[in-house]
Amino acid sequence: MKRMILSLVFMTMAAGASPSVIPQPLEMKETDKILTLQPNAGISYVDTAAKSSAEQLASMLRPATGYDWPVRQGGEGTIVLQTRKDASLGKEGYRLNITDRVVIQAPTAAGLFYGAQTLLQLLPPEIYSAKKVSKVWNVPTVEIRDTPRFEWRGMMLDVSRCFFGKEFVLRYIDLMAMHKANVLHWHLTDDPGWRIEIKKYPKLTDIGGFRGKGESRYGGFYTQDDIREIVQYAADRNIMIVPEIELPAHSQAVMAAYPHLACFDKEQTIPTRHFISRELYCAGKESTWEFLEDVMDEVCELFPGKYVHIGGDEAKYDQWKKCPDCQAKIKELNIKGEHELQGWMTQRIEKYLQQHHKKILGWDEILGCGVSDEAGIMSWWRPKAAVEAANRGNPVVMALTGHCYFDAPESHVVGEPPAATWIPPVSLRHAYNWDPVPAALKGAAIKNIQGAEGCIWSDQLINPANGLMDKPGEGTAHSEAYVEYLTLPRLAALAEVCWTPQDDRVWDDFFSRMATQYNRYDAAGWNYRTPLPVVETKQNEEGTFSISAIAPMRGASVHYTLNGMEPTATSVELNAPINVKDTMAFKAVTVGADERRTSLVFNFEEKLAPRYRKLGALVGKWSAENVAPVMKFKVTGKVDQNGIYRVSFSEKKRGEAMEVTGLRLLKNGRAIAEGTLLGPTSKRPKTEGVDLVVSDYETGAHFELEVTMKPGKNQGFVLIKRK
Ligand SMILES: [Zn+2]
Repeated sequence: MKRMILSLVFMTMAAGASPSVIPQPLEMKETDKILTLQPNAGISYVDTAAKSSAEQLASMLRPATGYDWPVRQGGEGTIVLQTRKDASLGKEGYRLNITDRVVIQAPTAAGLFYGAQTLLQLLPPEIYSAKKVSKVWNVPTVEIRDTPRFEWRGMMLDVSRCFFGKEFVLRYIDLMAMHKANVLHWHLTDDPGWRIEIKKYPKLTDIGGFRGKGESRYGGFYTQDDIREIVQYAADRNIMIVPEIELPAHSQAVMAAYPHLACFDKEQTIPTRHFISRELYCAGKESTWEFLEDVMDEVCELFPGKYVHIGGDEAKYDQWKKCPDCQAKIKELNIKGEHELQGWMTQRIEKYLQQHHKKILGWDEILGCGVSDEAGIMSWWRPKAAVEAANRGNPVVMALTGHCYFDAPESHVVGEPPAATWIPPVSLRHAYNWDPVPAALKGAAIKNIQGAEGCIWSDQLINPANGLMDKPGEGTAHSEAYVEYLTLPRLAALAEVCWTPQDDRVWDDFFSRMATQYNRYDAAGWNYRTPLPVVETKQNEEGTFSISAIAPMRGASVHYTLNGMEPTATSVELNAPINVKDTMAFKAVTVGADERRTSLVFNFEEKLAPRYRKLGALVGKWSAENVAPVMKFKVTGKVDQNGIYRVSFSEKKRGEAMEVTGLRLLKNGRAIAEGTLLGPTSKRPKTEGVDLVVSDYETGAHFELEVTMKPGKNQGFVLIKRK
């Protein structure tokens, strides 16, 4: 399989002009000629419905080409746009024919826009430059018929934990549009900040929009004018914005502004670090409803799309259990407890939004809330819930952590920026190799899977230890560069998951087209994660290893070292296979055409023998050299739910045994579980370990294993496994 990658990439790179469109169109026939766009080229529209699309395309082509691109009505011109009925194209499809001119036909403006996006990708990557580039603007001649597989191709941006200004949101919409994504799910409210101006409740933004004090005061919000501008900008690019107004949980910023909305009217502050507040809107007081309805009135006015996302996730009922009003409401409604109270609340807000001709959308959790079958379910952690919802007739959007949570890192390679560690890495390949339709779903219910959505949570930004948040007055925007890094290139994978039929998607082919996509990101000035080199090894007869590698980006090269030094652009280039005795000494990086761009370092991972692997995931090592009386090992992601975890100390090299005298599991620095079966690390049978009972798991929390040891001389591995 690896060899196949090599040959594919080499072919694409050699051919150069071979189209690398992402997402891959439904049907594309290459007709093997080249059309060169001339400086006097113009754009025409056949019907007036296509006029604004023609003007939009002209504005996309002008900056990089520097040509005038006059727009006229009629059928003449180098590029012709036409609105035309075509039942085979659906609402968003298009036809793009390039011969001695370019013709884009589609039934809708959305289709014309996507035809234009594909045309851009057939041009050299420099077309994405905001400045004029001297270039011969060639396009290959093709016949394309294209339409998306799914109608929901989304990205979620969390602007509550970290506030991103209007300019960045517009830029984010641009990069979504390039990938033919069509839903921006805007996470506008959460515990650490309320970001949408509500005229009737100014304190929501005056107080709820800012956290911290003095110099470290941080925040911001979007005015209603900002929002109207962003909504229109998105609509011009066929992107619907779905606002998320979280309830009943994730609302501490609201309580800080209007404390009477909580169960107990007391002063509240806005958290400056990531945590999940236990404050909920009081479900028992009518004043809560007055507030929610007023807010929704303004929200519905601002967002023309058919959905309002109401969150619904991670509600902990401590306050409701103690609140006389909530308890009285449970009695009055004759319902069973707090979960059904959340159900009642969800149904009530759904009915209210229906009066505004809106549908609700919520996380998995709202499924148990008795919502109507038109409520959208966004499935983030329980694929079973997606199947249940689809069978029930609800529209479902797949946003599974394992494929769609782009706030997780792409890998555990050293140097990867801080990212969510409570879930395993989401590699580009993971983001690509899955089907949003769960295998367990059969028959007509499959059509209820609307598509998929990538999620960028800002949890990592709010963690001060990560140093990712922009500081007031600093004048930088590393938070924005960071979000682009997390988004790209995984958005490209998601785009193809959502657009291209499952049977037409092949990782190797996608991977080779990506080589050009990175060049487009460079031209557009977007930050992205530079892919590591693809390295292949082969054991030779005499016991040495042959190592070859390719750069996964067009114009890039691979550089390596064998002496333990970190490779850089000035290290030796690997352009032919090398022979080594020990692969562990090999390190390599991808170096971009612009040498300032290098990837993280590739090296071969230490492989655990099966006898260790069966004891679970490697947490760390101890040895006489590195032992400390108290050692801490990160286990975030390895502890990923409540349960019993077995920690094993497996001796690898014998010697006087190190003795384990204490073992605790820490959640955000606080012990939540303690092991009792302690003792020397050598006498312990390989299958025996120390059990830890976890009953207070929390998503987003950091977990550490704290081991207290008495010194010795042996060494070994610490491993963890859920029983
Ligand atoms: Zn209450």
